[in-house]
Amino acid sequence: MKCEIVRDLLPLYCDNVCSAESRAEVEAHLKECAGCRREMEELRAPLPEEELRAADKEASALKRLSREWERGKWKAKLRGAAIAAAVCAVIVGAFLAATQGFWFPVDPKNISITNVRQLSDGRVVYHMSVNDDKAIREIRFEFDEEGNAYFVPKRALYTEKRTLPGQTGDSDLILDLPVMNGYARDRGYDTEITRAWYGRGEDAVLLWEEGMELPRASVEDEINWGDRN
Ligand SMILES: [Zn+2]
Repeated sequence: MKCEIVRDLLPLYCDNVCSAESRAEVEAHLKECAGCRREMEELRAPLPEEELRAADKEASALKRLSREWERGKWKAKLRGAAIAAAVCAVIVGAFLAATQGFWFPVDPKNISITNVRQLSDGRVVYHMSVNDDKAIREIRFEFDEEGNAYFVPKRALYTEKRTLPGQTGDSDLILDLPVMNGYARDRGYDTEITRAWYGRGEDAVLLWEEGMELPRASVEDEINWGDRN
């Protein structure tokens, strides 16, 4: 077989796509011809460029994989952070709802009014206490057309303990009728207040009513509360 023919066949031979006959012929020739053997070796060895390109491809495939993995990791991290944030929001929301969001009136059964007395300027001083150790968040003023004023102490579902001595819930407070009448008028009630209650409803505790005889407040009270004017 001529070298030319063998060299034409070599690529096919290398790729194992030539006939058994051609194959045998090529092998027989290669045993004898060093030139064609070299030709074949060059053919079999991948070109350096190709090698580089293949390496590049592998490297970029690796890079892409690691990029995707990183992105996946970030996605997972972000998802985790989002879930954590949502859980935090729910916890904070529940906490705020329990401690701040909704305030409920204190059951009047738990409220007692004692030591009602009158300052020389007409204001009424009294002691209001709640029969537990929890703080009061606010005292809401409510009115009706019959001249009733209601002091409604409110607290959250969860309320911290009273800490300061004299904190509302166990403290002296004042009923200033002209001021309360002003509040009532501001809210559209034109009737003069004739009764003041703690809490609202059947169990409301009467604090004061018109015509009530009240003991005079002590000198100490007069000093503590000062003169209205
Ligand atoms: Zn040859």
